[in-house]
Amino acid sequence: FTAKSLGSEINIYSDQLKKDIVNQIQMVNKLQVGIEKEEFTLFYQPEFNLHTNEIIGVEALVRWPHPENGFISPNTFIPIAEKSKQIYALEQWIVNNALKQKLKWEEDGLEHIELSINLSSKTLESESNFQKIEQIIASYKVDYTKIIFEITETVIISHVDTAIERLNRLREYGIRIALDDFGTGFSSLTHIMKLPIDIIKIDRSFIKSIPKGNEETVITKNILSLAQDLNYRVVAEGIETQEQLEYLKLISCDRGQGYLLCTPLPSDKVYEVLRSSDDCVF
Ligand code: C2E
Ligand code: MG
Ligand code: MG
Ligand code: MG
Repeated sequence: FTAKSLGSEINIYSDQLKKDIVNQIQMVNKLQVGIEKEEFTLFYQPEFNLHTNEIIGVEALVRWPHPENGFISPNTFIPIAEKSKQIYALEQWIVNNALKQKLKWEEDGLEHIELSINLSSKTLESESNFQKIEQIIASYKVDYTKIIFEITETVIISHVDTAIERLNRLREYGIRIALDDFGTGFSSLTHIMKLPIDIIKIDRSFIKSIPKGNEETVITKNILSLAQDLNYRVVAEGIETQEQLEYLKLISCDRGQGYLLCTPLPSDKVYEVLRSSDDCVF
């Protein structure tokens, strides 16, 4: 191709780049306002015992109903908050509010319900910000054995030794650690075994292919049996069809989450679901 056509491609590329940068700066500014004004809210998605249909616990998932832009997905704003370091303040808000909710549920007779909170690798990597999270945890006298922090593989790959040390500090409370989105990174179970992890959540991309995607189905089955032999609790995420559910039960996957069972719900709605013995099926 000609220099001219190449030139215009570069322009298109740099125009797009400019737009992306402007969007990110705008998002950082919006996040600043959002954090100051506490525009965020937490939804809770139940996790089920697949054999009995009982709810074992809930995962807190942050939501941002932006006053002008409508709903903004955490997949959009969490990565930007991580880059801009706003994740620290946001995560302090999240942990504080999730634990406040847990305490309230304990007082309302739901002390058996476990609570999972996602923890950004950025927070785990920063000693001063990790300490702030520890202070928040210590300030709520909840049943820590019912608290789970979910982390992803990135943190373990980049800073193994600090990650182990900090995760162990959480475990001293009795808090458990879950490895989220397992299978999407490069870690093998033998690598994971060296880490203070109690629970493995098999990523939705594997569950999605059940039972048609043969390879993913074989991988899911093998991750599950190996993880169970190694005494990990295994959770399947993103169960959307009856077929997936039946298959997971067949291979003795005991726990799972997904739209088929229940979508993430605001706290008052999830409270109703937790109080009633009805299945949460939509
Ligand atoms: P994640 O921790 O793996 O959370 C599961 C995501 O899958 C949630 O998306 C949930 O709504 C969605 N999901 C659940 N069941 C199904 C299903 O059956 N089908 C499909 N297609 N999706 C399902 P959400 O809430 O949009 O969160 C996306 C990601 O953003 C989370 O993935 C997590 O990495 C991050 N995130 C969300 N809330 C927080 C938070 O409070 N703190 C941090 N650090 N990250 C968060
Ligand atoms: Mg999670
Ligand atoms: Mg997950
Ligand atoms: Mg995920």
